[in-house]
Amino acid sequence: MTQVKSAEIRCIICPNGCLVTVKERPDGTYDTEGAGCKRGIEYTEQEYREPKRMLITTMRIEGGMLPVLPVRSTKELPKQRIFDAVKYVSAISIKAPVKMGTVLVPNLLKLGVDVIASRDMEKKAK
Ligand code: SF4
Repeated sequence: MTQVKSAEIRCIICPNGCLVTVKERPDGTYDTEGAGCKRGIEYTEQEYREPKRMLITTMRIEGGMLPVLPVRSTKELPKQRIFDAVKYVSAISIKAPVKMGTVLVPNLLKLGVDVIASRDMEKKAK
């Protein structure tokens, strides 16, 4: 008998929070149960195949009003690369001032995702 791989995944797209069972068929397609809508099917199948997350972290900044600047990725990146991404970004130090949306790390770890400033950061008053 062929072993069917499966996982239960909570859909977080809307407050309903459907618990969805995703079963991988031998031909690589999926059989999905429990999703309340098509978006949930797409989300949970993506989560099963390759979970992705936004990178939301901080970067050191010299001469700013605060010692660190909140930063984020422009798109989701593979969940399994989040730790590497945080480590890479935490090793960088930039100089104030910085405008919100400024690209601070283009093509992070060659993932096709940029890291941008989540807010303005003025220079610290002397
Ligand atoms: S499957 Fe659809 S209805 Fe259910 S939580 Fe996800 S988005 Fe909401």
